[in-house]
Amino acid sequence: MADKIKLHDRTFKSYLSEDRIQERVQVLGLKISDDYQDKQPLFLSILNGSFLFAADLVRAFEGDCEVSFVKLASYDGLKSKGKIKKRIGLEVDLKDRHVILVEDIIDSGQTLHEFLPDLKKMKPASISIAVLLLKPNSVKYPFDIEYLGFEIPDKFVVGYGMDYDGLGRNLPSIYQLKTKKKKKKGKKK
Ligand code: 5GP
Ligand code: MG
Repeated sequence: MADKIKLHDRTFKSYLSEDRIQERVQVLGLKISDDYQDKQPLFLSILNGSFLFAADLVRAFEGDCEVSFVKLASYDGLKSKGKIKKRIGLEVDLKDRHVILVEDIIDSGQTLHEFLPDLKKMKPASISIAVLLLKPNSVKYPFDIEYLGFEIPDKFVVGYGMDYDGLGRNLPSIYQLKTKKKKKKGKKK
């Protein structure tokens, strides 16, 4: 894992290694396997950001399951635009299914806050949430997360599915935005 990478105009520093991520995802996958024995859950991955997490999580799941996708987006560059766009809708019937929502990262919580009522309308048997990263200090809409990878500080991250303006999704590890140090006001002599 490189110490630093550059994407577009920004520098990012190494934050979570591939090994740490993989170890944690295996633990979550096994826990889900225990909790969902004989339930044949449906993993619903929220694109684009969660595609790698979902790919690893379902492979760590032991048992029969289905996998499906929805595409939601709220981010533009480094900032949330505040409004969720649904770009590709649901193609499966969720009625009476045990749904495990798979999300890359929760920042404000708005994406899931807006999406959960839509899901509930489809009358699934149960809904649980698997999230790789949570920024507890920025959450405005709290909810229960049954399977959480890591809590992280309120700083922009890329890699392992997550992008900065389209780049960085293919990185197997996670990098954190390097913020510029404020210049100290030096006293003039
Ligand atoms: P929320 O609706 O919880 O504020 O934001 C959720 C979505 O915004 C995430 O699914 C993710 O796609 C994007 N997001 C939030 N924080 C970050 C971040 O630090 N880096 C990247 N690349 N995307 C983020
Ligand atoms: Mg996401």
